[in-house]
Amino acid sequence: MVTRDRRNAALRLAVGACLLMSGCRGSSDPADTVFVGGPIVTLTDAGVVDGLAVRGDRIVAAGSEADVRRLVGAETRVVDLGGRSLLPGLADNHLHSVGGGPGVDLSRVRTLEELLDAIARTAATTPPGQVVVTNSDWHEGQLAEQRLPYRDELDQAASAHPLVVVRGGHEYILNSAALRYWSIDESTPEVSGGRIGRYADGRLNGELVDRAKEYVELPPAPRSDRDAAKDALVEQYTTLNRRGLTSVRHPGGSPEQLDLIRELEAEGRLTMRVDFLLRAPRSGSAEELRAVLAQWPEPPSPEQMRARPASQMVRVDGVKLGVDGGFEGGLMREPYEEPWGEDGTFHGLQTVPRDAFVETVRVLHGAGWRVATHAVGDAAIDLVLDGYEAADEEAPIEGERWVIEHGFIPRDDHFPRMRALGLAVSAQDHLYLAAPSLVEYWGAERAAWTTPLRAYLEAGIPVSLGTDAPVVPYDPWWVLHHFTTRGTISAGVLDDAQSVSREEALRAMTAGYAWLTFSEDQRGVLAPGMVADLIVTDGSFRDCPDPCLETMVVDLTMVGGRIVHER
Ligand SMILES: [Zn+2]
Repeated sequence: MVTRDRRNAALRLAVGACLLMSGCRGSSDPADTVFVGGPIVTLTDAGVVDGLAVRGDRIVAAGSEADVRRLVGAETRVVDLGGRSLLPGLADNHLHSVGGGPGVDLSRVRTLEELLDAIARTAATTPPGQVVVTNSDWHEGQLAEQRLPYRDELDQAASAHPLVVVRGGHEYILNSAALRYWSIDESTPEVSGGRIGRYADGRLNGELVDRAKEYVELPPAPRSDRDAAKDALVEQYTTLNRRGLTSVRHPGGSPEQLDLIRELEAEGRLTMRVDFLLRAPRSGSAEELRAVLAQWPEPPSPEQMRARPASQMVRVDGVKLGVDGGFEGGLMREPYEEPWGEDGTFHGLQTVPRDAFVETVRVLHGAGWRVATHAVGDAAIDLVLDGYEAADEEAPIEGERWVIEHGFIPRDDHFPRMRALGLAVSAQDHLYLAAPSLVEYWGAERAAWTTPLRAYLEAGIPVSLGTDAPVVPYDPWWVLHHFTTRGTISAGVLDDAQSVSREEALRAMTAGYAWLTFSEDQRGVLAPGMVADLIVTDGSFRDCPDPCLETMVVDLTMVGGRIVHER
């Protein structure tokens, strides 16, 4: 009996393994693609190997060149790496979109003058009185002057049009016509969770931060039909494939956006694995949340998430919340540096009342949802931990991999609390872009501590990496460059002690992401049975001299065995 049981168990294992491989062909069947002759960074115990074979959507062998040459048949494509690196496909843990849009493009301006010229050019071809809006994917850190343009300057570029300069996800700057258009003046009341900026003499400078943005209702984006929206998504994912991305997590969208991506998957046009967070209502109202929950799909349990077939490209992963502002509104225990600190009284912006946040988390937890919350400053992390701990008291969340998004300024006392709850931190390279502003807002010490990857790793907190595009441009190589050097675009190196090795950064951007999305049995490392999500880089990932990663060229990107980019 014992023997038969054992044999059955062995058989079940064999069948399981066979199902894991593509189809049930024998292990000696030829591979579809075989890579030889290069350093292949597996991120497994096998380390760096010379050969890798792909059949169907899976890796079927990773080892010596001789091992994989055995799998070469008449139809097999053999790719000689010739010393180029082969790595697991990159994954961005927090990507809204590639950026761009129908507004004024400021992504490439490098001075205030160029910025104002770009606006003036658009205004010149827009009927007077019509609202002019800029795209959001730029930051003053890219400008020689390293500061925002304000109302008076904007009036020089456009005086006959209400103008809204959108900067990232947390801030608008308005010209005088726009302030008039939305009836905002010196007597307009401050909103809690928001800030209305002023010049030193008390006049409005046009700045509206976080919830103060609610005074402005932007004109709806030109309606594109469903097909055009889908084509734009295909183009977006192709752009990202070219830089080596094979998975992205969209941090907060609507069920309608999810449907569009699912349609692409059904049509076989999707070249990216997409993990999707639904966005809870920003109001923080539990009633509104319950109404929305009724419209949403059922939340997947951790077991269901783990059991999803690898062929399923689009996955719902949880719900996105937020508690504080961004660069200019991260919620801190200690006040901002002067003059932003307003005589030691400004600590950043809490965008939702404490009770509303705790209740929102409780409702989501009760409904079975995993929560991921935007928290930039240390006081915001306090609030998130308080909310998560309250939920955890009702029913443990450990094992559900709840998330803190961004986590710029953790304190040492946060780490044990994060570990006790089994949290993951979803980190991005904001510092690379915004370093000069962060020094100005928070002082050199806090700015240098921003997103301390080394500290997170040493504290044993699971971390993944990404960009927050379009707040920071989408290039994943800027991420790898930044976290391995702590280099920034225009402020030099900030706290080199927080830099990590190339392998650590790569691991966070691949295996760390897989853990974040309950897909570590399928993605993130290169081993037999894992999906064939991989990239070939032009330069040597392990050996090229800094700052080579920043501009690394990707020669080939494969998603599930399918080549989606090759140059
Ligand atoms: Zn974001």
